Amino acid sequence: MPAKTKTTRATSESRPGPRSPAASARRPSSVRRQARIHSGKAHVAEAATSAGEAGPGLTAPAAPTTDNWPVHPLATPHPAGGGNAVPPQWRADLLDVLITEAQLARRVQELARALTHDYVGRDLTVVALLTGTVVFLADLLRRLALPLRLDFMGVSSYREGTASRELVFTKELRLEVRHRDVLLVDDILDTGRTLLAVKTRLAALGPRSVRACVLLDKPARRVEPVQAEYAGFTVPDVFVVGYGLDFAERYRNLPFVGILRPDLYAR
Ligand code: 5GP
Ligand code: MG
Repeated sequence: MPAKTKTTRATSESRPGPRSPAASARRPSSVRRQARIHSGKAHVAEAATSAGEAGPGLTAPAAPTTDNWPVHPLATPHPAGGGNAVPPQWRADLLDVLITEAQLARRVQELARALTHDYVGRDLTVVALLTGTVVFLADLLRRLALPLRLDFMGVSSYREGTASRELVFTKELRLEVRHRDVLLVDDILDTGRTLLAVKTRLAALGPRSVRACVLLDKPARRVEPVQAEYAGFTVPDVFVVGYGLDFAERYRNLPFVGILRPDLYAR
């Protein structure tokens, strides 16, 4: 079944802060951007907003030019035996290829274009969560034409018994993010517990804005009311590996995103 597409909207809290004065002077003010990068047609809509929403004396983000946005459909998951053949050496482990290398490359390029547009002239700090982001991050960063700073946070979830889960921070930020625009990068948004906990922790450090960019979004399993302002693909409720994502620390090196055979794990 094809992945459902959905639209997300950046909230005023999550909107990046002001551009540099030079960048502000070049661009129209008082607009609010609603990025619809989940949708099959990458799309941006504009709405007027008060300058107060962007902060006193600050200029709101400029209107993007929709003409610049690439338009192409999201990757479609294929059932076992579908169009995306699993390479022979992975057939014992994987049910199918969900997102091909080519689809990943195209989508990462689109995300990079959107991010470069939205953060031009801003003081951007990318905060990536270890370890699942490494492959996605390396591809994305090299396509961001921005003088950004990069830092990492480590967070792990440990199951306690069968129901409760405790999130443990295994690495803290090294860079100062106060009054800066932060882009949080994660591999997959599942229940939302991780993203909510990390966003809350970052917000306590006084950044100008915090937005999230995830490669994959699995909305069927959401427990917390949190969303990513930028997402690569919406995926169905299957356990995926590859392109940085692991199962028991394996499969991160797959160049595509695959569906793990359910008999290999018990959830
Ligand atoms: P959340 O806190 O949103 O439930 O979970 C986020 C984390 O769970 C991800 O960063 C990832 O480590 C892990 N996760 C959730 N779904 C999947 C999946 O389908 N495959 C893999 N490999 N990890 C997942
Ligand atoms: Mg993770």
